[in-house]
Amino acid sequence: MTYRYVGRFAPSPSGDLHFGSLIAALGSFLQARANQGRWLVRIEDIDPPREVAGSASRILSTLERYGLHWDGDVLYQSQRHDAYRQILQQLYQQDLCYYCHCTRARIQQSSGIYDGHCRDLNLPANHAALRLRQSQPVYWFEDRHFGKLYADPALASEDFIIHRKDGLFAYNLAVVVDDHFQGMTEIVRGADLIEPTVRQIALYRQLGWHEPDYFHLPLALNQAGNKLSKQNHAPALPLDNPLPVLAKALAFLGQSLPENWQDASTESLLIWAVTHWDRALIPKQTALTSHFPFSNESV
Ligand code: GLU
Ligand code: ZN
Repeated sequence: MTYRYVGRFAPSPSGDLHFGSLIAALGSFLQARANQGRWLVRIEDIDPPREVAGSASRILSTLERYGLHWDGDVLYQSQRHDAYRQILQQLYQQDLCYYCHCTRARIQQSSGIYDGHCRDLNLPANHAALRLRQSQPVYWFEDRHFGKLYADPALASEDFIIHRKDGLFAYNLAVVVDDHFQGMTEIVRGADLIEPTVRQIALYRQLGWHEPDYFHLPLALNQAGNKLSKQNHAPALPLDNPLPVLAKALAFLGQSLPENWQDASTESLLIWAVTHWDRALIPKQTALTSHFPFSNESV
């Protein structure tokens, strides 16, 4: 069965969910539900060294605690290695990728952008990275929220890595293979992922696949103006009282709240939010979370 709308939330299990991840989860959930679509959750556990033990299951229980119930089974990227390998093999057989033995130091010396040094050298596989041979780079895309977005041409046309030297599958490869496999029609995620989008679209086209729509959400910043992230120690979402945090996330997305939201359950607030969802109200700017009402010290 094919669905008219399929969306997803795809966290990496490198730590607990924070307010920034809640925005991506909630925005993609509301957009899917308001379109009578399916909303899937995928755990992007392709980078074991960056994984934090137990965080995948904590992420899932946090989503449930916040009333963000997903459809079907959770897909784990750690279970998808055969699919990734098969696509890599296909790209290699079609001469759409090549082995690269360059060191990071060499690339840094030449402006930091890979110059295609190994493109035609036909190098062997031993411990090399695989790069996509870009013949038709994508320089811009039409974002469903921000409109036409242009990429830095040098970055957009770089032969980017699809399989890492250390044997790990690259994020850009896994995300495209899985979004396609799961039939995504629209990708709703944080604006921090705008940059790799042109690479992902280029990969769809090399594979002859139809790309989904992209809808990026404004980023939540902390008081210092930095994006909330695990790296800069954004606090984990509180589990004891999700309601005010959910209300704050809705306000961040520009949505109005019912007058008596304090008396609602998380589930009923979400039902209200789905029926009143208006994506035109989402701000275009990234914003400081402290500028929003319902301050919750733990967020
Ligand atoms: N797993 C990625 C992250 O947590 C998100 C991937 C995506 O939404 O495309 O940052
Ligand atoms: Zn190289």
